[in-house]
Amino acid sequence: MSSAVTEAQGLKVVDAFDLDDELRSILKPGEMVRDSEGRRHRLPRYFYEIPSHEAAMSTRLTNHFALNEFTLNDLKEAARLRLYPRYVPCAIRLLAFYLEQFRAACGASVHIAVNGGYRSPSHKLADHATPHMWGTAADVYRIGSNILKTKEAIDKYNEIAEDLSEDVNVLPYGHVTGRDADDHVHIDLGYVTLVPREISEDRMEQPQENRPRFAFEERRRKDRRTVPENEE
Ligand SMILES: [Zn+2]
Repeated sequence: MSSAVTEAQGLKVVDAFDLDDELRSILKPGEMVRDSEGRRHRLPRYFYEIPSHEAAMSTRLTNHFALNEFTLNDLKEAARLRLYPRYVPCAIRLLAFYLEQFRAACGASVHIAVNGGYRSPSHKLADHATPHMWGTAADVYRIGSNILKTKEAIDKYNEIAEDLSEDVNVLPYGHVTGRDADDHVHIDLGYVTLVPREISEDRMEQPQENRPRFAFEERRRKDRRTVPENEE
């Protein structure tokens, strides 16, 4: 058994309505935001609380993806969200599951860019809703030793990603915003929210009381604690 490695099940699940005012104003749980087409989407409410950098590094969502790979942010993210404890929507584990399938289909390691995983609605790149705010999108800049900068490479891996499932969406090379998909493969699952089974949805709207309600995910999956060797 590896010593320093834990599992997502050991993370506290929080209802973001119960967090302090600053965090609520940053995470905007349950608020509606518009995507680039003007469609409205409701932001996620349930988050994993990541207590420390060590926990982010040692928590494996799948065999090959640790939690910290989805939370690499630079100064464009809200300052409070770069401090621990940090928060990431619970749907992040669905994304990790699909990326694990993607990795297998590629036959090579899959590397997520800085700011390429979860981005809060207060992130400076967040001028409209994208699945990154739901924890259901990843920008992959390198696969194995391939840096994804050419149309040829991005088209190839987009096709592999799309073949995984109808749930998977990609952006074509040279996306109009200029941010997406001329130097990475963007993979998303859409605006998926996840309500952990430990959560009781008895409060439809923002709670009147300020009593924190936390839950810990039960361990349901077989041991994922073994760190794979020969990662590359
Ligand atoms: Zn993206």
